[in-house]
Amino acid sequence: MQAQLALEPLDKNYSVTVYFLDMTKDDIIALPNPHLREKSKRVGVITDEIRQIVEAMEAATIDWDTSRDHEVGVALAAVQIDKLYKIVIVRNNYDDKNDHTFMVFINPEITKLEGEVIEDFEGCLSVPSIYGKVPRHSKVRVKALDINGKEFRVSAEGFLARIFQHEIDHTNGIVFIDHIKENPEAFFRLDDEGKLQELDYEKEVKNNADLW
Ligand code: ZN
Repeated sequence: MQAQLALEPLDKNYSVTVYFLDMTKDDIIALPNPHLREKSKRVGVITDEIRQIVEAMEAATIDWDTSRDHEVGVALAAVQIDKLYKIVIVRNNYDDKNDHTFMVFINPEITKLEGEVIEDFEGCLSVPSIYGKVPRHSKVRVKALDINGKEFRVSAEGFLARIFQHEIDHTNGIVFIDHIKENPEAFFRLDDEGKLQELDYEKEVKNNADLW
């Protein structure tokens, strides 16, 4: 599926890019794509292009989890549809797969990491089939711009705090497995019944050229 269409410029000063809103899960990039380890750039002015990227991110996330029985796409960073801007979307209600609304965070930054460090499971739309037990802070404070360019701040605890750390990592070129690279007991896969099974670290993780 073609992700974008560049129209023929009418003259040298005029060009238009149209992003299709029917983005699908196939537009989500995955490891070993090296863009996932690049830092995204900050958004300056919130233009139509930025708004269209946000809509495309939402469409791709919904399409992804519609195709899965046991997983919900809770959040996405723009780099995951190969747009290297600091933009993150987080599902408003990730306990309900039928809720297709998202919060939008532009140029999100963690202003404070708080609480204790807790290990829990994470997966990623860009790391197919692998789950990891990742240490994260239990509380964070985040500052970002909304879709209208207005600054806002949120505090989050528990799973939502984990989501913010995972997604803001994406905007800085960090993938969750990078935090657990040296831990042979931290890697899992989801079986057909939706249960997590430990991976063979030596065989399936350590020397897997798709991951590192
Ligand atoms: Zn991810």
